[in-house]
Amino acid sequence: MKIEKNIFYDLEYEELKAYLSNSFNLDEKKSSMRANQIWKFVYKKGLMQVGSFLNISNALKENLENKIDFDRIKISEEKKSVDGTIKWLLKLKDNNLVETVYIPFGKTGTLCISSQVGCTLNCKFCHTGTQMMVRNLDTNEIVQQLLIAKDRLTDWGSEKKIRNIVYMGMGEPFYNYSNVKKSINILNNNFGLDYSPGRITVSTAGVTPQILEAANEIKTCLALSLHAPNDEIREKIMPINKKYKIADLIASCSSYAKINNEKIFLEYVLLKNINDSESCAKELIKLMGKLPCKLNLIEFNVWPGVGYEPSNKDTVDKFFKIIKSSGHIVTLRKSKGEDILGACGQLKTESERKKRGLIN
Ligand code: SF4
Repeated sequence: MKIEKNIFYDLEYEELKAYLSNSFNLDEKKSSMRANQIWKFVYKKGLMQVGSFLNISNALKENLENKIDFDRIKISEEKKSVDGTIKWLLKLKDNNLVETVYIPFGKTGTLCISSQVGCTLNCKFCHTGTQMMVRNLDTNEIVQQLLIAKDRLTDWGSEKKIRNIVYMGMGEPFYNYSNVKKSINILNNNFGLDYSPGRITVSTAGVTPQILEAANEIKTCLALSLHAPNDEIREKIMPINKKYKIADLIASCSSYAKINNEKIFLEYVLLKNINDSESCAKELIKLMGKLPCKLNLIEFNVWPGVGYEPSNKDTVDKFFKIIKSSGHIVTLRKSKGEDILGACGQLKTESERKKRGLIN
């Protein structure tokens, strides 16, 4: 009979310690020492062959090999853009697919990871929103997105190439809160991956009740996918706004910012004739006055079948200038990786259509 193994990347540091202590009857000092060694092999050096763990007894190696799975998820497809953006389509053990994207800025970059297969929220401008929600990702599947990217970028040296992690890929992280929280604890641990909370950003479409809990627990940076300056527009493009209104959302984000002493990133994708008028910019300035924040204006990445167009250049420039002249911090994020199916979720859909023989 095949024995189900625990997946290493599901374990937090303290869980690994407890496992070693119980399996080998080790005292606190010894279980800490062993956990520390193994954690460093896996999360500092990127090793996944137990045989390559040095200074570990054969009995411990045998136990780890028999009981714990260190294998990585497989890469189904890798696409590299002319601008350096890399997109991986990962095939999970149950054959579901998720996307992970590396966005370079010079020699370092940011990794965008997914938290769910599909999404329930159906934001109208988002390609992932057109996909059926399948399931939450397990902790190990979230953590492994980073490990795989580090493998592919040979990023196991002391100077990290992947400097920042953003939970902005497929899915709503706060609808998979416990696994997202656990994955952040693993990423934070300074014996291993060592990403401080300031290097991690969790993005939400606006699950208001979860924001305060997260403020006290995960302590990362927070991004709010706002995309509209009032409830009327937001409800048309983001159905979640019917449940959680902008005023409550801004109040929760304001508390988050106070608790963590960090500005909130407001994400705002510019959609032609939807949310890009001068009056929208002025309404947005009023909202920005209610909390410590920075605004990221995003150029819309068009995908087949979407009912929106990107704002034209003059409109983007004008919108940007109105916000900037109000004294608020605003950046304009250019669309990246357009030549490799840049919109979140698009590579997954394309791969599934190919499988069904709908395209070549
Ligand atoms: S923008 Fe985010 S929350 Fe909205 S549908 Fe897309 S993946 Fe889901």
